Amino acid sequence: MKGYGYRRMKVRFMKRFLAAVLAGSMVLSTGMMASAAELSDLFDASYYAQMNPDVAAAVGNDEAALYQHFVTSGMAEGRSASAMFDVEQYKKKYPDLVRIFKNNTAAYYNHYLNNGMAEGRDGGGFFDPTAYAKAYPDVVAALGNNPKALYQHFMTAGLAEGRTAGLNFNSVAYAALNPDLKKKYGTDKAALFREYITEGAAQGRKGARADKANKWYCDQKGDHTVENWVTETYANCTDPGVQRGFCSICGEEVTNISKADGYSHIDKNQNDKCDLCNARLNTYAKK
Ligand SMILES: [Zn+2]
Ligand SMILES: [Zn+2]
Repeated sequence: MKGYGYRRMKVRFMKRFLAAVLAGSMVLSTGMMASAAELSDLFDASYYAQMNPDVAAAVGNDEAALYQHFVTSGMAEGRSASAMFDVEQYKKKYPDLVRIFKNNTAAYYNHYLNNGMAEGRDGGGFFDPTAYAKAYPDVVAALGNNPKALYQHFMTAGLAEGRTAGLNFNSVAYAALNPDLKKKYGTDKAALFREYITEGAAQGRKGARADKANKWYCDQKGDHTVENWVTETYANCTDPGVQRGFCSICGEEVTNISKADGYSHIDKNQNDKCDLCNARLNTYAKK
């Protein structure tokens, strides 16, 4: 028992130690970051201008001016610097980090660059460089691991080649909420994403992510749109089955209950009688 207690203390100590190290890393200036990727590697000027038309209107389309805006105020305001990283999504995905970094936005960028990518965490952007690198080792062999290099490859070649691993764009919702685009591009995820990134975002089109604000669409349709159901319990002779999933349009968790089917009997004690409804079965007939 002594050993157990000691180990627990040790684990607790390690947790505190790690938290202190992580908290410390946010104090380091960006210039001191040892990893290959730097803050500027997570910044994409044209994306930033596209997603933040108010900023573009104020500072223009000059790359350096946009980056300057991002560093001095955009980052703290939680604005997304590129398709590679979205600090608000990163916080949503990793509550363990929120407990440590609270509202220190810069700390999340540092964490992603110095630890998150290596740990395989999803940066919460529309494009996950880590997933892309994992799926396409040939690209990594040619270009390395730098997130910006991977994103550039994705936009200039990968998309057209059908390399969509790492693309976290909600094409189902985007097409549903924008019928004109659905008519034009069908279910072509790559084409819909390209449209969004070059035009749709600045036009304020909705649906790139599942969002409560899109719920009007579900209400109007009288139904949610769930792509992936997870079966919790299968229906049997007397009990209903339960499936759960998330709506691609509004993000709401949806439960689907199917009726008891009257024929899927269960006979665990193998007495040729259904444990649930007592129906006579002949599955384990004795000689
Ligand atoms: Zn919905
Ligand atoms: Zn039964």
